Amino acid sequence: MASAPTKTHCPYCSLQCGITLDVSGDRIRLEPQSDFPTNRGGLCAKGWTAAELLGHPERLTRPLVRDGRSGELRPAGWNEALERVVSAFERTQREHGRDAVGCFGGGGLTNEKAYQFGKFARVALRTSAIDYNGRFCMSSAAAATNRTFGIDRGLPFPLSDIAGADVILLVGSNPADTMPPAMQYFDEGRSRGAKHIVVDPRRTATAARADIHLQPVPGTDLALANGLLNVIAREGLLDQRYIDERTAGFEAVRRAVRLYWPDRVERITGVPERDIVAAARMLGGGTGKARRAMILTARGAEQHSTGTDTAQAFINLALALGLPGRPYSGFATITGQGNGQGGREHGQKADQLPGYRRLDDPDARAHVARVWGVNPADLPSSGRSAYEMLSAIGTPGGVRALWVVASNVVVSAPNSLHVADKLSELDFLVVSDIFLSETAAMADVVLPTTQWAEESGTMTNLEGRVILRQAAVSPPDEVRSDLDVMADLAKRLGAHGFSSEPQEVFDELGRASQGGKADYRGISYERIATDKGVFWPCPSAMYPDTPRMFAEDFPTPDRRAHFHPVEQRRTAELPDDEFPYYLTTGRLLRQYQSGTQTRRVAQLTEGEAEPVAELHPTLAQRMGIGSGDKVRLKTRRGEVVMTARLNGGIRPDTVFAPFHWGGAANINRLTNPVLDPYSRMPSFKVCAVAVSNAASDAEPNTDQEGDFTHG
Ligand code: SF4
Repeated sequence: MASAPTKTHCPYCSLQCGITLDVSGDRIRLEPQSDFPTNRGGLCAKGWTAAELLGHPERLTRPLVRDGRSGELRPAGWNEALERVVSAFERTQREHGRDAVGCFGGGGLTNEKAYQFGKFARVALRTSAIDYNGRFCMSSAAAATNRTFGIDRGLPFPLSDIAGADVILLVGSNPADTMPPAMQYFDEGRSRGAKHIVVDPRRTATAARADIHLQPVPGTDLALANGLLNVIAREGLLDQRYIDERTAGFEAVRRAVRLYWPDRVERITGVPERDIVAAARMLGGGTGKARRAMILTARGAEQHSTGTDTAQAFINLALALGLPGRPYSGFATITGQGNGQGGREHGQKADQLPGYRRLDDPDARAHVARVWGVNPADLPSSGRSAYEMLSAIGTPGGVRALWVVASNVVVSAPNSLHVADKLSELDFLVVSDIFLSETAAMADVVLPTTQWAEESGTMTNLEGRVILRQAAVSPPDEVRSDLDVMADLAKRLGAHGFSSEPQEVFDELGRASQGGKADYRGISYERIATDKGVFWPCPSAMYPDTPRMFAEDFPTPDRRAHFHPVEQRRTAELPDDEFPYYLTTGRLLRQYQSGTQTRRVAQLTEGEAEPVAELHPTLAQRMGIGSGDKVRLKTRRGEVVMTARLNGGIRPDTVFAPFHWGGAANINRLTNPVLDPYSRMPSFKVCAVAVSNAASDAEPNTDQEGDFTHG
């Protein structure tokens, strides 16, 4: 008798589209779930081809260890591989102290893995050195929403509410390419007359559908937000009643934005004054209960050295319009990685304990230590953020042995040549992954792990909806789950209380998160399966979950949302004579993150096997570059050569390149690692770049004048 198809979820982005897998012998049939609330039957090319990852010929199926004589990686048994790890960790900590061993996690790990990895660092290794690649993704928005709303849940409302908003301001996000099934909600809204404003230096597929497209100079979104609020305040479009009753601190913001009059903002951002005024009126139109508007930000606004303040500026705008907590309205930030939300809640971050608790909070330490059966005094203090941890390798007090789980930092970290150099200075590197990524290829030990459909576990999607990915197929014989490996290593290191069973780990996570901001205590595998996911916070099994937040108040000490005045600051690296243009980076429709998985799926690389740099025809002509030519991009950190594609929809002073490729085409060789002071987010989205024709490196044609605005 044939078994029923398994309901599970796509392995890639934060939409976590519902799919079913029907397995019969070697044949796997993948279908979208027509009734799952985020995708409602939709999938993108990545989702449709996700089964290709299972049984892929390049799949790691045995542990690898670096041979002492040849220096090459060779297959090994699990005992040999894990004993090498244990002996390297013990030797390093004996000789250099506990913090000399580090852990680096990923935003794609299940909640159970993220939780147990944090516990492994604090209990089995007792090291403060742990952080994860989500630091490169969501940290600025998280810092801004925490300080304003007292909590960080990307969408504080279900995705489907987007269809009910009358006006949407979408900043630095291109869901038409990054999560196409989500566009059905935007399209539904527009088809009933909603107006959409998109802010992006490129005319993306999303921007092309908008009513207004604003194209600011990269790194100037904050000034644009303050300029919009300036117009809204001057034209009497504020929701003064909401400001008075539900917020604090508006007068300082009102004073700050007085200086952002539209013609000044035009000079900073390059966005015409008339467009700023039109966008402000569109956003502020309608008053009181009639106003249904949303402001959504993503990495384009946030991945800057001013990312937290930029997100804050848009939150200020949303609060001044009285949006958060109102039906079909609010401020939200769109999470990128598959478990970008849950991955930042349960202890992978350098300063965090499960439940979004702070590691420096004595009550939080006492609670979590009780669940873990350890003395609170034995828990380490906060460690360095992701880039700081990597950059400190080889320096006094830096990490000397490192365990990287499901993260390809050689491709995804900024200033990646420097990061690769730093990894090569380690005494010992162990990497857990499903393929031999660029980072795994540098390791002393590589541990092959189970992937999405081979294991069960929970993910928390962009809405804060906790969903269950169910196992549908068996893993290869010699492959083990990350939970199992963490439990085994912990035991070998003399620690107890680590489980290999996802459901057991999830129940423990629920207890550890109880009373925290991200409270999962009332969520269980059974409840998720019957409810199409459960929105946190959910403090008890008897308690309804929380699809919509902030209707009555905010989880701050005074129950109000807090404005914070923010000012446009100089971008860390402005164009100059040597590096005269802006470089910005981003994602493509058919690739995901560092490309470890999607670059190995033939259907996804057809016609797009290599990255392409997009530049405006005016810039291309000036530099003697034609479409299809090789273009050399050079910054203060390195250079890459890519094929050029001319795009009349990008700013003429800006070059765009995707970050999904490694090796010589890795654009993160060029990106600026300068960090946001609050979130420690690197400045992926803007740095100064020189552009030339790689074939001739021809002298620029200075007769050609273009529209170049250096803000
Ligand atoms: Fe859905 Fe994202 Fe998977 Fe595409 S990559 S199918 S949008 S979850």
